[in-house]
Amino acid sequence: MRRRGLPRTPPFRRFGPLRPIHPRLRLANQLFNNGRYQEASENFEQIASFMEAEHRPNAYHFYLFAARARSMAGDDDASVALMEKGLGLLIRDNRRSELERVGARLIQELIDRNRNAEADKIKEFLAQNSIDIHSANQEAPIPEGVNVPTHCPSCGAVIYGVGIEWLNKKTIMCSYCGTPIKID
Ligand SMILES: [Zn+2]
Repeated sequence: MRRRGLPRTPPFRRFGPLRPIHPRLRLANQLFNNGRYQEASENFEQIASFMEAEHRPNAYHFYLFAARARSMAGDDDASVALMEKGLGLLIRDNRRSELERVGARLIQELIDRNRNAEADKIKEFLAQNSIDIHSANQEAPIPEGVNVPTHCPSCGAVIYGVGIEWLNKKTIMCSYCGTPIKID
């Protein structure tokens, strides 16, 4: 697998007016990492609402982050509602292959964290919407000749080869900040 950095483009120019959201995203991640889950969730949720209003394809990702923070804060009902909201955006836009992949990963993560009640609710939600998580292709391979950057150009997080989030054939998503990253 060949990888190389993206050309030096200042963050936020490439993907439009993200600037106002970025300090809040940094704050949300910091709050989460410091165990202040309730506050982290509120910030992630505000980011998600903003992204949704802007019709950004990665808005769902921030609802899932908010849900994880709510879950860590012990508020299971709010967590499930936020997960359904995030997945609901993908359902609304009929993004089936992402739903299968994101749904399967979400349920696995919940089971790994011993949140079986939440996992069951999400399984039920997906089944009601005819999403078959068992057909998910978890190991989306990096196509031949594609160069994936080693770091997110927006937040600098390392992009791992395994579990890369593909938004489409030409775009991956940073799993830390949700920035879509075009690849060549
Ligand atoms: Zn990033």
